[in-house]
Amino acid sequence: MPNKQANAVNDEVIDAISRFLAKPPEGTPVEVIQAFDLFGGKRFLPPTLFLETVEQAPVAISITDSHARILYANAAFEQLTGYSRDEVLGKNESVLSSKSTPLEVYQDLWDTIAERRIWRGTLVNHRKDGTEYLAELTISPVLNQDGAVSYYLGMHRDITGVHALQQRLAYQKSLIEAALDVAPMVVAMVDEDRKILLDNHAYKALLADSGSEEPAQLFLGALEQQAGLELAAVCHGGVGFTNVEVRLDIKGPRSPRWFTCSGVPIPDLDDAARSYFETGRAGRCGLLLIANEVTDSRRRINEARLNMIRANMAEQQVVQTMREAISASIFKMQAPINIIKAAMSMAKIGGDCANMGPVLSQALADGEEAIESLHQALPGPSVEQTATLNLNELVQDVLRLSTQQFLASGIVIDWRAAPVLPSVTGSPNALRGMLKYLVDNAVQAVTESGGDFREIRVETRTEDDQVLVVVMDNGPGMPEYMALKAFEPFYCGWEDPRGHAGMGLTMAQEVAINHGGGIEIDSGFVGGCRVFARLSCAGGRENRT
Ligand code: FAD
Repeated sequence: MPNKQANAVNDEVIDAISRFLAKPPEGTPVEVIQAFDLFGGKRFLPPTLFLETVEQAPVAISITDSHARILYANAAFEQLTGYSRDEVLGKNESVLSSKSTPLEVYQDLWDTIAERRIWRGTLVNHRKDGTEYLAELTISPVLNQDGAVSYYLGMHRDITGVHALQQRLAYQKSLIEAALDVAPMVVAMVDEDRKILLDNHAYKALLADSGSEEPAQLFLGALEQQAGLELAAVCHGGVGFTNVEVRLDIKGPRSPRWFTCSGVPIPDLDDAARSYFETGRAGRCGLLLIANEVTDSRRRINEARLNMIRANMAEQQVVQTMREAISASIFKMQAPINIIKAAMSMAKIGGDCANMGPVLSQALADGEEAIESLHQALPGPSVEQTATLNLNELVQDVLRLSTQQFLASGIVIDWRAAPVLPSVTGSPNALRGMLKYLVDNAVQAVTESGGDFREIRVETRTEDDQVLVVVMDNGPGMPEYMALKAFEPFYCGWEDPRGHAGMGLTMAQEVAINHGGGIEIDSGFVGGCRVFARLSCAGGRENRT
């Protein structure tokens, strides 16, 4: 370009910049104003300095007339597009168009800049050699003194690499999601606030089964309560866990369900600016949770276990019956012995029966010997190993053991298990015996009431540091005086007392007390009887049955 012509263009550009700086359009990037200010601002830097600044800027800069005809292009423009400025000066910017940018994008571009607003967007450009690149473009209108657009300032950079990276990330994400979706196990990624960041089909299926309850929350609750694994501790400890079995009492026909869970702590994405340099800083963390359903195999194991429990309880029942019968005999024999003792003291003071002294002494000795032999015959309490127990599981065992009984008596069972319960440390057989006793009582009550609709509801829940099992029946209920007497040894209030020595509630109460709780009968309950069995989550004393 001849020098004269070049100078004329430069003057025109400088003039445009001065007008631009006099009234920059709203939204003009501050860097642009600052850069132009170097030339035209208060400091009145020499025009050459401004030109050098724009010329050497690492962004492709072009200045056009109001029809997008290029008046100026800097070195970065030449380098990026492959066109020398001689080749593009006077030509429309459309020389860069690869013709694959949708028309609506250009329409939006022109609509925006025609309204004297800044346009930012992405276009597909091609270089002189025909290769395409993705241009991130900003166009800023330059206004004349009358406020009309006289020039446009265009700045663009090649973001093909960024786009490729985004595409690759999106591709990898969809690959991971596709792989997770076909996996049969439940997979969820949760952050430290327990927010779900990612899940798969199996997770969504479980969500549909669990109604409104988010499965991840159920898993985290169960891991915490049943295995002592807290989310924050796992995340910050940096060590995951594998194959931890948990039980979820999700409402529905398949309840309860068992899963083996594994968790991998994963450092959270730290997109804070300062993390660019501080790569090692302790950030937040998430947990990748993988849960494999093992309900079917657990059911089979449970069936075998239940048979063992059935046998064990039958044995326990025999021992209990013997204990009750012998205890009752001791209790009953104590009465005549007391009478003999009273008669002997009367004989001592010379009453009518003074000459009966030796006979009474003999009777007393025989009686005491008989009581002693009964004490000897009384089976001792069995000491049971304590274990960490899930009360839902024990209630479930008892209900399944009683199924025949329910069916035979036409009783409807309404079992409302808390989805997640804290563990109880205690003696499984003693606790099952206690629960069985409460359920048997409920069966007897609804049967004796003779009503057409017989229902027993069993609920579990947590209150403070106690686990509660509530057994409700729609039988005749218990008045207040009876609710107290029922705990006395050998008290029997049933219409049909056969098979009841009156020791059951006494023994059940003892088991509950040994587990840091107790049994209460709610005599105010309307429409039947309600019994609460409370057990401490912290564990009780050594339990004897
Ligand atoms: P065109 O017919 O030129 O334009 C397509 C549509 O845009 C038209 O149908 C019309 O709706 C609208 N339009 C075009 N010109 C005007 C106008 N003067 N006034 C109002 N509406 C109009 N394009 C690129 O592809 N790559 C770039 O890097 C690029 N940089 C630019 C930088 C600046 C500073 C400016 C002002 C424009 C830039 N453009 C760029 C847009 C370019 O000028 C063309 O509009 C675009 O390339 C489409 O060209 P075309 O020949 O395919 O269609």
